[in-house]
Amino acid sequence: AAEPGSPYRVVLLGASGVGKTAFASIFAGAADSMDSDDCELYEMCENMIEVDGEPASVTLLDTWDAEECYMQTGDAFLLLYSITDRASFLRASELRITLRRFRPAQHTPIILVGNKCDLVRRREVSVSEGRACAAVFDCKFIETSAAMEHNVWEAFHGIVRQLRLRRDSK
Ligand code: GDP
Repeated sequence: AAEPGSPYRVVLLGASGVGKTAFASIFAGAADSMDSDDCELYEMCENMIEVDGEPASVTLLDTWDAEECYMQTGDAFLLLYSITDRASFLRASELRITLRRFRPAQHTPIILVGNKCDLVRRREVSVSEGRACAAVFDCKFIETSAAMEHNVWEAFHGIVRQLRLRRDSK
């Protein structure tokens, strides 16, 4: 885990097409102009965000490959699926199980994120299924729409809150 003051490493996990790049670009959009060059590929972007009136330095990592490597090095995880794609929901379960293998002992902050909630008519995974899955996985749950920028910052802020709780309890 990171020392106090160093950036939190937040990892985006999820099947292809669920909206990881869209999340990363919203996150990068809040970075100042100097940083946005580094964010061009959205694979890794560092940003200072304010959560509950306090600044937090966050490095967001987009895992388009080498997921297992990120599982070992991340401080916290946003586990994304698309509510329009049941296969991506199953993939999120698999990733959660793999994550447990890499991070067995400590409590790792994770939020299960059901993205694309704007696509109501194409919904394949209900809100209650998402919530039930998060309960089984012992993690938080949120539905988002990267397209509408709905609840995306809530997800980023939520993960920082969990990281702070964990850090404070040490
Ligand atoms: P990635 O493969 O996980 O990085 O997924 P992308 O971020 O590239 O998103 C895949 C496609 O879904 C793109 O065409 C996005 O514009 C679209 N997309 C991502 N998030 C949303 C969303 O919340 N709502 C809708 N309608 N489309 C989305």
